[in-house]
Amino acid sequence: MVMQSTSAAASLTPLTLMDVPAPRVEGPLDVVVRIAAAGVCRTDLHLLTGQMVSQLPLILGHENAGWVHEIGSQVTSVAVGDSVLCYPFVAKGLSVPERSGLDTEAPDRQTPGITVDGGYAEYLRTNERSMVVVPAHADLASLATLTDAGLAAYRACKRAATLLRPGDTAVVIGIGGLGHLAVQILKALSPARVIAVDTKPEALDLAIACGAHEAVAPIDLKRVLNGGARAVLDLVGADTTSNLGISALEFGGTYLAIGIGGSVTLPLADLVEGEKHIEGVFVGTYTDLLEVTELAVSGLVSPRIVRYPLEAANDALDALANGRILGRAVLEP
Ligand code: ZN
Repeated sequence: MVMQSTSAAASLTPLTLMDVPAPRVEGPLDVVVRIAAAGVCRTDLHLLTGQMVSQLPLILGHENAGWVHEIGSQVTSVAVGDSVLCYPFVAKGLSVPERSGLDTEAPDRQTPGITVDGGYAEYLRTNERSMVVVPAHADLASLATLTDAGLAAYRACKRAATLLRPGDTAVVIGIGGLGHLAVQILKALSPARVIAVDTKPEALDLAIACGAHEAVAPIDLKRVLNGGARAVLDLVGADTTSNLGISALEFGGTYLAIGIGGSVTLPLADLVEGEKHIEGVFVGTYTDLLEVTELAVSGLVSPRIVRYPLEAANDALDALANGRILGRAVLEP
């Protein structure tokens, strides 16, 4: 049984439960993974509302982990039964961007759950290049969240960490699936004071549990900043959060956009006179995924997950859409 979207209307269209054949290995480098867990992402909501467009019908699920079930004839680096995380882009590795690690820029890449069938299912077809082998005892439901939420948070934190000196302040806006990981990753990678910002009290509590030095509502950020932030990570990406984040920067500070949906507008005088930097962060590389996985396996980063059975995918999506998920929801077949 799999979950399949058959239409995209303006509102949240519930997924349809359907029986479809499990995917099989087709090419020599293909890998079929038996899914242990698939993370539930805001991108899934964007696909369900039609804000993002894809070929339909489509099995959602771009944040996947499981066990190798079947391998193509030329696959040598994983074996049947291995516990694996699925790097979210499936590419051949031959283009120039891919050779520098940027499979995000591969001209022919596929993204299971977005451009081809994904992991809201018992089985997923991907390829050998996308496999990250993890210890057999690892909690795959927890680690699945690293393949998108953790990956994007890690890439942003890694960039921020190159800027942050002792005594500096970093601000994390939005303590959801990505933000609660970003707080932990920043704590692991940098000496900065970390201030978490969210509108929900329970998210602020989660931020403190994740190690944030302070956690405040947006309206209170200025009061606790004492000057400005060297780096701001905006995991929300709304007009209000980009305004808040950019205005929170100290001279020479950097605003990192990870969430999307809104716009950046500011007087160029502010940009120039404050020597502000505005950067986008798009998911991450395979090696970023290896690194954040190492942080999680070694216990420095602990994803907070809410488990749902695969059959309850619509409940999980509804809970995410209505702000009722603390951390990251995962579906388990
Ligand atoms: Zn996602």
